[in-house]
Amino acid sequence: MAITDDVLVVGGGIAACTAALSAAETGARVRLLAHKKSTLRQASGLVDVLGYASGEGPFSDPYAGINSLPGDHPYRVVGEDGICEGLRIFDDAVGDAYQGGHTDSNALVATHGGAVKPTARYPKSVAPGLASATGDMLLVGFEGLTDFDAPVAADHIEAGGVPFGVRGITVSFPRSFRSDAKVTRFAKALDRDEEVTGGTVRSVLADTVGDELDDEARVGFPAMLGDDHDEEVRDELTDRLGVPVFEVPTGPPSLLGLKLEDMLFDALDEAGVRISSGNPAVDFEASDGRIETVLVDQKSRMTPYQADQIVLATGGLVGKGLDSDREHVTEPVFGCHVPHPADRYEWSAPEAFGNHAFARFGVVPDDELRPTAEGGNPHFENLRAAGGVVGGADVAREKSASGVSLATGAVAGRLAGEEASQ
Ligand SMILES: Cc1cc2nc3c(=O)[nH]c(=O)nc-3n(C[C@H](O)[C@H](O)[C@H](O)COP(=O)(O)OP(=O)(O)OC[C@H]3O[C@@H](n4cnc5c(N)ncnc54)[C@H](O)[C@@H]3O)c2cc1C
Repeated sequence: MAITDDVLVVGGGIAACTAALSAAETGARVRLLAHKKSTLRQASGLVDVLGYASGEGPFSDPYAGINSLPGDHPYRVVGEDGICEGLRIFDDAVGDAYQGGHTDSNALVATHGGAVKPTARYPKSVAPGLASATGDMLLVGFEGLTDFDAPVAADHIEAGGVPFGVRGITVSFPRSFRSDAKVTRFAKALDRDEEVTGGTVRSVLADTVGDELDDEARVGFPAMLGDDHDEEVRDELTDRLGVPVFEVPTGPPSLLGLKLEDMLFDALDEAGVRISSGNPAVDFEASDGRIETVLVDQKSRMTPYQADQIVLATGGLVGKGLDSDREHVTEPVFGCHVPHPADRYEWSAPEAFGNHAFARFGVVPDDELRPTAEGGNPHFENLRAAGGVVGGADVAREKSASGVSLATGAVAGRLAGEEASQ
C-alpha cells in the first residue's frame, strides 16, 4: 500500500522545511521525506538574502540588487514578494531566537574567519557582535579549538575598516577534553557548569577572560556558549564580565546550524507535517505528465509514496540533489534537465573565487517553479523545485544561499498546497 498525502516534499534542509511549512499553511496534508540530515549542521546558522550582485555590494538593502541579477536567477522568478514570504515563514518558525526581522536592511556580522558579511537574519546570541553596534570588541578563542583563531579574526575584522577596535586572545578552556572533542562537548560543560579546579566552568572562564579585558565594551566567543541552556550561560558570563557577551558563527560542525535545524523540525511538528527520514527517494512512476508515485529505497525494499503535488528540495552538489561525473551533471531522482557546458573545462573559472559556471548549475524553473525540459516545458505538471537544486544563483558569491532556499521553498510549497486542494 502506498503512503498518500496531498503534498510530498523531498529533502530535509532549509528549503524543504520552508516548502513543507508553506504547504501546510494552505491546509494541505504534507509529508517531508528526508534522506540524511541537511547541510545546516555545517552551515553558519546565518540567513543571507542578498549581499552582492553584478560586482556591486555589500548591499545594506538586500532587495536593492534583485534587478541587477541575471534573468534566470530564482529571485527573478519569485520576486521580492517571494523573498518576504520566505522570511515571514522563517520568522514564524524560529520566533525570538533570531533577530533582524525588525528591519529590511542587512546586518553586518563578523564570522569566524574575520570576514564581516551582510546577512538578513542572525541568532540572538550573535547580535551584540554586529559591526553596526558600537564599542571595542575582545574576541576570545580557545587552545585546541583551531577553527576559531581569535587574534587572526580580530586582525581581519579591523583590516576591514570597522569603526571600533578589535583585539583577539587565545585562552585555555577551564576543562580539558580529548583533542578530537566536538564543539558540543564544550557547550555541554558550560550548560552543566561543571566543577573544575578553582570553581565551575563558567566562573573560571569569566575570571580568565576578565583578567585579559581592557576597556573593551563587548566580548565574543566562538559559537559554543551552551546548547540547552545557552541563554543562561551568556547571561552569567555577561554578568560576571560586566559587558555584553556574543557568539561568533563558526564553521562545521556548527552549533548554531544544529540549533536552527532543531527549530525548523519543531515547527514542522507543530504544523502537523509528517516526517519520514533516513531513506532516499530514488525513482518515480509517472503517467500523463504527472508524477504518480515516488519510490523510496528502504534498504531491502522500495516503498511507494504518493501525493497530488511534489516539491523537490534535495539541495545542490553539496546536498546530493545534483550529481556529476566527468561529463554530465544530473538531477538523480526525477531526471530533470540540468544545463551545463559540454566542455568540462568551462565548468569552473581559473580563480578560486571566480565566476564558476558550476556554482549556478541546477534545474531550470518555469514561473511556477516547475523544472523544465530542454525545450522550456515543465517535465511534470505536479513537480516543483526549491533551494539549492534550482539553478541560476551563485549563492556563495552573492551571499544569498538561505534566502534563495526560503523564497523558493515558500513559493513552491504554497503553489503545491493550493494546487492540491483544488
Ligand atoms: C558549510 C556551509 C556554510 C553555509 N553558510 C551559510 C551562511 O552563512 N548563510 C546562508 O544563508 N546559507 C549558508 N549555507 C547554505 C544553507 O545552509 C543551505 O545549504 C542552502 O540554503 C541549501 O539548502 P537546501 O535545503 O536547498 O539543501 P541542503 O541543505 O543541501 O539539504 C538537502 C536535503 O535533501 C536531502 N536529500 C538529498 N537527496 C535526497 C533524496 N534523494 N531523497 C531524500 N532526501 C534527499 C539531503 O539529505 C538534505 O537533507 C551554508 C551551507 C554550507 C554547506
